[in-house]
Amino acid sequence: MGRRRKKRKLIARRPKKTIPNVFQCPNCGKIAVTVELDKPVNGIKHAVIKCGNCGLYAEMNVPELFHNVDVYGRFLDGFYSGTLEYKFLAASEEEKAEESA
Ligand SMILES: [Zn+2]
Repeated sequence: MGRRRKKRKLIARRPKKTIPNVFQCPNCGKIAVTVELDKPVNGIKHAVIKCGNCGLYAEMNVPELFHNVDVYGRFLDGFYSGTLEYKFLAASEEEKAEESA
């Protein structure tokens, strides 16, 4: 009754994932770039970078410690410096002309 309740500090809940998984595309400018990482093999991970908007696609091997943001950073570096090999995936490969109408 007479007890004073300690005022609880209300801390805004932070979502556990603070690392974004979608990044801005250096080609089209949309926030549509995703980074997928494979399981590390011998300390190296294979990363696939894709833009869901323009189809920009790149692969690279990164150290096991790399997170998505690190891969994205390296991807940007490579993109702008011209050292990255990349290509564009066709927006939809199902548009092959089907002549069975
Ligand atoms: Zn793009």
